[in-house]
Amino acid sequence: MRAHIALGSNVGDRQGNIRSAIEKMQSVSGVRVTKISLVYETQPVGGPPQGMYLNAVVEVECGLSAAELLKQLQCIENELGRTRPGKDFPRTIDLDILLFGDEVIDEPDLKVPHPRMHERAFVLDPLAEIAPDAVHPVLGKTVAELRQTLCRAGPGKSA
Ligand code: ADP
Ligand code: MG
Repeated sequence: MRAHIALGSNVGDRQGNIRSAIEKMQSVSGVRVTKISLVYETQPVGGPPQGMYLNAVVEVECGLSAAELLKQLQCIENELGRTRPGKDFPRTIDLDILLFGDEVIDEPDLKVPHPRMHERAFVLDPLAEIAPDAVHPVLGKTVAELRQTLCRAGPGKSA
């Protein structure tokens, strides 16, 4: 299955955290990273006052189920020192499954497509760069279309 994963970091060596997370994903058996977006520097959305984020999106070819992939991503978050003091707090690394082929999943601990992906420039900009034609299976629109209709609070910039 082809899946798209968002990466975000705003604590510590942000660029290094993104790079390490991609390397660790690459070494998960059953996962092959096939595309990597540029890294974007973005304003934090929600949560307490905190530093700017670096965001990126990768495409993977994945022999695991979405639940298995999530488990592997959470292991990588933990290895990179992720703590969870509360929602939208600063983080060394956040790994979210955006799309998992055309699967629609609505479990308490796994919602795919990611419920807020279509309203976030920091997701849609890098995602549109590597997968403009991927279709959101609930909204029935391509990533490029979703990005065009996005309301933007302010410009993101490529880092
Ligand atoms: P957030 O990414 O919302 O800022 P966390 O990274 O701490 O917050 O994730 C909170 C929970 O979100 C995780 O325990 C996970 O089970 C759940 N979750 C639900 N859907 C997804 C998804 N598509 N990708 C990653 N995590 C998800
Ligand atoms: Mg997350």
